[in-house]
Amino acid sequence: MAISRRQFLRRSALAVAAAGLNQSQLSGAVRTIVLSGPAKKVLVLGAGMAGLVAAYELSKLGHEVTVLEARTRPGGRVHTLREPFSDGLYAEAGAARIPDNHDLTHKYVKEFQLPLEPFYPNRLNALRFDRGNREEVPIDGFTDAMTRQFGEDLGGNPDRWRKIKGGTDLLPKAFAERLSNKIHYGSPVVRIEQDEKQARVVFLNAGQRQTMTADNVLCTIPFSVLRKVELPALSAQRRDVIKNTRYDAVARVYLQTRNRIWEEKGLNGFAFTSGAIEIWEPTWSQPGPRGILMTYARPGEAERITKLKENERIATTLKQLDGMFGGLRESFERGATKCWMEDEWSRGAWAFVGFSSLREGRIHFAGEHLSPWPSWMQGALSSGLRAVKEIDEFVKV
Ligand SMILES: Cc1cc2nc3c(=O)[nH]c(=O)nc-3n(C[C@H](O)[C@H](O)[C@H](O)COP(=O)(O)OP(=O)(O)OC[C@H]3O[C@@H](n4cnc5c(N)ncnc54)[C@H](O)[C@@H]3O)c2cc1C
Repeated sequence: MAISRRQFLRRSALAVAAAGLNQSQLSGAVRTIVLSGPAKKVLVLGAGMAGLVAAYELSKLGHEVTVLEARTRPGGRVHTLREPFSDGLYAEAGAARIPDNHDLTHKYVKEFQLPLEPFYPNRLNALRFDRGNREEVPIDGFTDAMTRQFGEDLGGNPDRWRKIKGGTDLLPKAFAERLSNKIHYGSPVVRIEQDEKQARVVFLNAGQRQTMTADNVLCTIPFSVLRKVELPALSAQRRDVIKNTRYDAVARVYLQTRNRIWEEKGLNGFAFTSGAIEIWEPTWSQPGPRGILMTYARPGEAERITKLKENERIATTLKQLDGMFGGLRESFERGATKCWMEDEWSRGAWAFVGFSSLREGRIHFAGEHLSPWPSWMQGALSSGLRAVKEIDEFVKV
């Protein structure tokens, strides 16, 4: 069953309280890891944030790490779109905002010396449609609408939100550079098995099945995709969880314009609609004159958009935003869309399973879905670090 963000927050607060921990202890507990035994051979499945941080920290501890990634790039759901935009403009398909209390995300941004900048502009006005009328409001009116709709963890003071200057993908790329030849791209995993002595992973290399063995496997493949992988070594109960975890849909539509015509009207391009769709202007801090407006639809609306053909998604969004900002149609140059349900290696935006690792024998699991912060990079990082500790402490038999 899908749960709302509010339900999740209540549930996670209860679970953390039940475990006698607070959330900072949860992330802090895994920060001081030391190699606790002989080096192990570890196969990490997936080069998203969970897999990357685990591979990075396991390597630093001296373990022998190999990463198998289905895509030809690192980052998974952290993906900055640079095509088909002009003049080097970019916008985020996935992770974009970093709140000030996500200590692990900030830790690695700082470790790799990536520049941060405000997520929201502090000039011009945003639009609000959620209170019945069209309103022009300062940017804290936008984050107030977010608080009302989604709760404090997505709203609050606009100043607490940051983005990575140059694109969020600089973060996974920084991990990947440090792991260099340990990551095998274009290598989708099709089978995971184990016995008392070792774990084995079968993957495709140029369409051919190949097998690698390891002491431990860390699987960060989203359950929405993992359910198509052969998992003979797992209990029926675990396979059921993997099969039945429901992922939420998210759809984004991007419109590139010749000029930032909204600015001429005193608007900064951010808006919150009556249907709880966010509209962002991701290029406000990038050089002009061209600009991008993008929509961010969550479950309820995202499924409807996903069903449309690409040109229909763009045409209906152009009509909707032209009605809000005026003059957009004349300035429109090209559009793009990202619907996470149709992404072959994600099949959804996010899910919540719980904090447990679901470890079975030598097979460990991590990913945002197995963390106290689902739908955040912080969640992927914290679960990856939890798995590092688990693997490091695993006793070889
Ligand atoms: C629309 C959207 C908006 C978001 N906004 C934010 C935000 O503003 N701030 C924030 O902090 N977070 C945000 N997030 C959440 C954040 O992006 C994720 O929580 C995080 O990136 C998930 O990392 P992960 O490693 O758990 O999973 P993934 O990134 O999905 O990594 C899993 C990896 O496994 C690979 N894989 C899949 N199948 C196979 C296979 N068979 N074999 C091998 N590899 C495979 C995938 O290609 C992928 O690289 C957003 C996410 C989405 C989708």
